[in-house]
Amino acid sequence: MMLSVGEQRGRWIEATKHVAAGSWDNIRCPANDDEFLEIHVSEWRSDPEAPTMHEYRLRCPRCGAENFMHGPQKYSPKG
Ligand SMILES: [Zn+2]
Repeated sequence: MMLSVGEQRGRWIEATKHVAAGSWDNIRCPANDDEFLEIHVSEWRSDPEAPTMHEYRLRCPRCGAENFMHGPQKYSPKG
């Protein structure tokens, strides 16, 4: 299955909304719809006084497609 870049972009945006909502399971791969995404979170700050930032790495374990979202928000899976 081939998706256009625009279609993939829309699906990645949907995936990030699911992450923000805490629905981390069952997010299909936006690139190829071939597997569920794995989500890895890391925290970092630019200096000790800075607020903690979060990087969310969304990755498909099958085809390797990945995208990142960044922000101060702390999201975690619900249920
Ligand atoms: Zn995939």
